[in-house]
Amino acid sequence: MKIVYADDSKMWRAVLRDFLISKGHDVVVANDGLEAYFKIHEVLPEVVISDVVMPGLNGYQLCRLLKNDPNFSSIPILLLTASSESLDKFWSKYSGANAYIQKDSENGFNLIDSKLQEMEKNSSLKLPNSENGKRAFGDTLDKLLVETSLRGEVRRLFNHVEDMNYTIRKINDLLKEIFEIKAMALLSISVDEMNLYSSISDHEFLEKWMLSQLSRPSYPQKRNYVSIDGENEHEEFAWISKVISFDSKEQGVVAIWRDRAFSDRENNSLSIISEELGGILKIGSQLEGYRRNANFDDLTGLANYRALEEKLRVLWNDGKDFVLSIIDIDHFKKVNDTYGHAIGNEVLASIGRILENSAEKFNSFAARFGGEEFLIISERNENFFEFIDGIRQKIEKSHLSKSVPELVVTISGGIAERDDSKSFTEVVEMADQALYQAKESGRNKVIVHANE
Ligand code: GH3
Ligand code: MG
Ligand code: MG
Repeated sequence: MKIVYADDSKMWRAVLRDFLISKGHDVVVANDGLEAYFKIHEVLPEVVISDVVMPGLNGYQLCRLLKNDPNFSSIPILLLTASSESLDKFWSKYSGANAYIQKDSENGFNLIDSKLQEMEKNSSLKLPNSENGKRAFGDTLDKLLVETSLRGEVRRLFNHVEDMNYTIRKINDLLKEIFEIKAMALLSISVDEMNLYSSISDHEFLEKWMLSQLSRPSYPQKRNYVSIDGENEHEEFAWISKVISFDSKEQGVVAIWRDRAFSDRENNSLSIISEELGGILKIGSQLEGYRRNANFDDLTGLANYRALEEKLRVLWNDGKDFVLSIIDIDHFKKVNDTYGHAIGNEVLASIGRILENSAEKFNSFAARFGGEEFLIISERNENFFEFIDGIRQKIEKSHLSKSVPELVVTISGGIAERDDSKSFTEVVEMADQALYQAKESGRNKVIVHANE
């Protein structure tokens, strides 16, 4: 049989080659995997024998390459492993080899011989003729190069995975460069959060359409829409989209649009890109989850004490003027005692939402300070009292529990502002003193700390 035999050991090359020739085979030797790969395309062998450990392209990789190429996948491959380790056997199998033989076992050569005889008997080899073989070689190399560089480019984005917004913008740049797209959308989905990044304004349509492509769409509570790269139209355009998976779990969907049709090759390229995006989305959303847990309070969704302290420290060190208010729920113990802890939690969550929305409008920062206490910081001093008192009135008028509609809760607040003769801890204490006064003088009111 015509055999290509690859081995980086000169001694083995000589010994095994002589043995094979003595058995009547036609042998072409190669010094490593890559050379073997070239020679296989040149001589179109009936069997490939390859050492596993070789510099450059090793035996497994050679095997994978050939088995993934429809032109060569039917050539039997015999891998020579140096050890009997089960890991080696596993890899030999995984790589798609037809047989693996421990090279330096006592009757290794006899085993090789009998394997070859078996292969000769069962041979159902359909080789491309040599012209096709050469063309196939060129195509394979082209494909490999394109695929490798595509994967490489996407993998480089891992460097920025801790900043998903940046990463997604980079993905957009890459897609623009490769496909000359007019618009793109990327949906990233995890158990508790969904992020839709897109350069198309119709979020409602996108969300529905992209979710419908998942085999098991989930509908997380928290949905974020991030607009990238302006707002584009898409109706008139050709599109392709791919589901993004990692470890066979769906992580999201990517879609691209442009003003001319996409070729099969481009379609395939987007598949390759989306394969690589799987890991990025997975790691990115995991990092975001950790960060959220570290800085946000689960029950109310507000920043937690840790994040609050950090915020205060930065404001303080930057010399920024600020004003803050501590807010405390009135007689909250009674709410718990009367309606139970679960209703108490519902009230805390509702108040958290009110504070978050109000704070956003006033361009300020709201945090859960402790059990039933909250803190709001603003860099804008004017109208701050009115702002906090507005929150007080709003809470007084709100239904904070769905299951107990008649439940009314009030809050008290204390306000203090930055004072450079004190530390920020003392500023917080001043607000706390004002809060105490509000409680003492009847609750459901907001008091500003008076500088003595
Ligand atoms: P005051 O008007 O003086 O602030 O009275 P209060 O009852 O609100 O104050 P107190 O500090 O005596 O009680 C606070 C209560 O808040 C006691 C505690 O059980 C409750 N609480 C703290 N954290 C939570 C929580 O996470 N969930 C629930 N349901 N209750 C909480
Ligand atoms: Mg309290
Ligand atoms: Mg209280």
